[in-house]
Amino acid sequence: MTGVPGKLSCADFQAHLPELIASGQDVANHPHIQTCELCRALLADLETIAEAARQLFPSVEPPDEVWQHIESAIKSEAATEPAHRSAKGA
Ligand SMILES: [Zn+2]
Repeated sequence: MTGVPGKLSCADFQAHLPELIASGQDVANHPHIQTCELCRALLADLETIAEAARQLFPSVEPPDEVWQHIESAIKSEAATEPAHRSAKGA
């Protein structure tokens, strides 16, 4: 089932996740996270990575590189799921 109005798919949510985190939003309270165990687990993984980055660079923000790495990791993970997206661009 796709295209439910107002409801993000996991792929859509995960595509925006790095931006949400990077912009300092409270991702843990995001409506999708509240309802999606899969993405909650993914976020926990990301937080582990982010925490490791903070320990490596305790006095600086995680460099963009780190988020880009996380973003590409998410995209490759999302790409392994069967894609049932009807609308791919217009
Ligand atoms: Zn999800």
